[in-house]
This record gives sequence, C-alpha cells and structure tokens, in this order.
Amino acid sequence: MNRKDFIKIIGGLTAMSTLGAFNTFTRNLKERDKKMPVLFVGHGSPMNGIEDNEFSRRWAQLGREIPQPEAVLCISAHWLTRGTHITAMPQPKTIHDFGGFPQELFEVQYPAPGNPQLAKETAALIQQTQVGLDHDWGLDHGCWSVVRQMYPEADIPVLQLSIDYHKPPAYHYKLAQELQSLRRKGVLIMGSGNMVHNLRMVDWQKMDEPDYGYGWAQEINETFKKHILSKSHQPLIDYTGLGQAAKLAIPTPDHYYPLLYALALQDDKEEVEFFNDRYVAGSLSMTSVRIGKG
Ligand code: ZN
Repeated sequence: MNRKDFIKIIGGLTAMSTLGAFNTFTRNLKERDKKMPVLFVGHGSPMNGIEDNEFSRRWAQLGREIPQPEAVLCISAHWLTRGTHITAMPQPKTIHDFGGFPQELFEVQYPAPGNPQLAKETAALIQQTQVGLDHDWGLDHGCWSVVRQMYPEADIPVLQLSIDYHKPPAYHYKLAQELQSLRRKGVLIMGSGNMVHNLRMVDWQKMDEPDYGYGWAQEINETFKKHILSKSHQPLIDYTGLGQAAKLAIPTPDHYYPLLYALALQDDKEEVEFFNDRYVAGSLSMTSVRIGKG
C-alpha cells in the first residue's frame, strides 16, 4: 500500500467514525416537535418514595400525563459538590442518603439505567464551566423517591446533575439555561428540593396534620408563587432580599437551588401550573411547579 492509499483509508475511517458518533447522537436524542415540560418537585420526606399518599399519587399521575421522556435529568438538593458533575455510569446505584427511617426504605432499589452518551452530550452543552463525568454517585433519594413513583418500571434512563454549592444563585440560573435544547430532545429536566425547607423549625407533633404551615411559611410560599406566575425571576434569584420569611424558609439554599434550575428553563409563553401545593409540619412546603405542557 502506498502512502496515498493509506491516507485515503485513514480519511475514510475518520469520516465513518464521525458519522457513527453522529448517528449515536441523533439516535439518543431525537428532535421532537414539542418541548418536554420542566418540573420542580417538592420531595419532602424520603417516605414519599414508598408511601401511597397525596404527594406520591400526584407524581404517579404526572408520569402518566406528560409525554414519555427519553431520559430524566434530575437536579437534586442532595447532590452538592465543588464544581458541576453529571452521572455518567451505565447503571447508577440507588443511594440511601438518610438515617432513622424504616428498613423498608433502605431496601429500595431503583434500577433505572444511566445514559453515558447523554451525560457526555449534556456536559458538552454547558459552556459556563467544565462539567465532570461522574462514575461514583448514582441516584440519591431527592431523585429516586420521586422518579420511582413516576416511572415504576425503571425503564427510562435517569441522570443527575450536581449543584456546585460554592457558587451563587445567579450562577445556577445561568447554567441551567444552557440545558434548554435538551427539552426538544425528549429529556425531562426535574429540579427536586423544597421551596420552604426549615428542618430545625419542623413541628413533629403536627407531622400528620394535613396542610399545616406557619404564617411565615405561607407568606413566603405565596410570594414565590406570585413571582413564578408572573415570570419575575430576578427577586427569586436574589431571594435574600425577600425579607425575614425568606430567611426562615431558606436557612441554607440546598433545597431551593433546584427551583432556580427549573425556572431558568421557563420561556415567556409557557403555562405554569402548581401541584402538591401543601404545607407539612409547619416549616416545609411541598409546592411543586410544572412548566409547559409538552
Ligand atoms: Zn431533601
């Protein structure tokens, strides 16, 4: 073989492998006519992952209502990191990241596959930072407690994107906007946290009383909803400016940041709908948001 033929063959192989990669890309992420909805889900107690209650029933109903996704991408309050990472393993493990709950909850396995190719493509979409491909995490309860109620067959790939806990709220909002194109590719993006989340102030005696919320919890929850409905996101990004009730609702921002990830993907004409709009034990709200119909 002379040098010219050799170069031709190499050139052909390169073209083929590029085409191969392209086919994988389009196979994994087919363009759809309609964007997938985006969710912010108040996950509350890990027990919602196994209980049949008003919250979990709504999650199950949502799973049937919204178009079948190609994959679910969760931004969970329970994966806080330095830098941003995305789960990139073919089989993410079920993480039992809680204590003091019944054995039954520790035995839950949610064996949904991952999607390493989608993880790479998502990492490549984000320009704001270098996203790390993670092979250690898996699915924490912020993600699986909700997703297993929505998709009990565990047949839809599930990925998680971590929250860089060293970055300010505006950073998260901006980063999330870079995920927009995934919606047309059939990816269900879901932030999972709680808008009002103050565990220190929980009234354990009122745990079973339905819809019990302190005055300040109700006040700030209504403020959040008002801003979400009018798509005025700036005060929500600058939540520390929302007064004393916001300070009580967000003593630490871990459960709040997933809301910003969802809102960042809301476009002007999209309908917003609240669900599970209830208080639990005084200082928690389960208020959840669905953006877009799909
Ligand atoms: Zn939580």
